[in-house]
Amino acid sequence: MMEHLRHRLSLPEPPLGRPGDVAELDVALKDAIGAEPRPAADVLRTYAEKLEPTVVSCDHPAYLAFIPGAPTKAAALFDMVVSGSSLHGISWLEASGAIAAENQVLRLIADLAGLPESAGGCFVSGGSAGNLSGLVVARDTGRHRLGLTGHAPVRIAVSDQVHSSVGNTLRILGIDSLLVPTEDHRLTDAAVRTALDAAEYDGGAPVVAVVATAGTTNAGIIDDLAGVAAQARARGLWFHVDAAYGGGGLFVPEVRARMAGIEHADSLVVDPHKWMFAPFDCGALLYRDPRPAKAVHTQDASYLDAIHGDGAGTDDLEWNPSDYAYHLTRRPRGLPLWFSLAVHGTDAYRDAVAHGLRIARYAARAVERTDGLELLREPELSVVLIRRAGWRPRDYHAWCKRLLAAGTAFVTPTVWEGETVARIAFLHPGITEETVDRVLGSLLSDD
Ligand SMILES: *Cc1c(COP(=O)(O)O)cnc(C)c1O
Repeated sequence: MMEHLRHRLSLPEPPLGRPGDVAELDVALKDAIGAEPRPAADVLRTYAEKLEPTVVSCDHPAYLAFIPGAPTKAAALFDMVVSGSSLHGISWLEASGAIAAENQVLRLIADLAGLPESAGGCFVSGGSAGNLSGLVVARDTGRHRLGLTGHAPVRIAVSDQVHSSVGNTLRILGIDSLLVPTEDHRLTDAAVRTALDAAEYDGGAPVVAVVATAGTTNAGIIDDLAGVAAQARARGLWFHVDAAYGGGGLFVPEVRARMAGIEHADSLVVDPHKWMFAPFDCGALLYRDPRPAKAVHTQDASYLDAIHGDGAGTDDLEWNPSDYAYHLTRRPRGLPLWFSLAVHGTDAYRDAVAHGLRIARYAARAVERTDGLELLREPELSVVLIRRAGWRPRDYHAWCKRLLAAGTAFVTPTVWEGETVARIAFLHPGITEETVDRVLGSLLSDD
């Protein structure tokens, strides 16, 4: 297995991969698990020959679909150390050194965002888990502030561009959204003001929080964070910022400036497994004031009393990540990022993020120069939306299939303003202008 990993990590780029065939995979797995033992080498061969080729490599430089992942080798290798060491990252009692290092990374992200010294939180599996855990605290804190009972209906204001995981969260939490229309896909001060004013008289439940997005997944659009924060502050509402994708941009001063207002977040979600080059699965969740989060999330079980200290007064410093999200058992998944940040230094992260921004602008200029292609929006981050003249939805889908089958690139179409279009998401520091040219060129041919 070490050799397998050494080989994969030594390749200049991994195979792009392809989706598997259901029947073939059934055959490959038919007798994989039986009552009798099997040699590990045989089982590994099944994986390497039959399973691995049917996984599309998110860390291939030409993986340009959804949001790619591109873990550094340092982080990927250290993830193996974490996995092999049975680190139980729930409590200071069991994993203090690992948690201290994770907290060092959380502090670094808090500093990039401009959150106060009090800020703290934990690593969770990703943006979805972060949004859920953060918004539970927003809901319960809001109810408490308004003197409402534990089940009283409340609402959370979200834009019509908010990530699907926030919609899921509200459904799980059993609360309604106050849907705020965007202006040119961006949540603005004025739109939030109008919606919140109207919500006071519409007979609905009180609004307790506002969610803003720092980098929408579909198009990389950054909401007017300062304006939305001001509206939330003025009304005593919780301000949650979903920067799951865009958070990596905090490393680049020019992007950080466009995220002005993020420092007012009461809760903030950043996915290091996206633009901070950490392996899956790694989401960072930060609270401006962790105390209400602890009150909401700490699990009460007599066998857990031991992790909450002896009352000697150091409990606040002995940090239990299990107190800041809905989880209990967790791997200290922030450690691979800690190791990689230390090995590479933060300047390398800034430069790697800047490369994604630069290549997106390169692609945008190339699209503008090309007859038959139309740039649908100037990229704010690293997503480029393109219309191909004359194409219908099935042409875009066929284009994606062709590119993947040829091993050229993995792209997926999206829907923009009701129309199916091409979407290219950059992130990998190894993506070259040549690959961009090749992918754009493939939009011009029908075969
Ligand atoms: C990816 C993403 C999420 C969900 O994160 P997961 O890590 O996939 O759970 C939430 N919000 C935004 C803006 C995202 O880009």
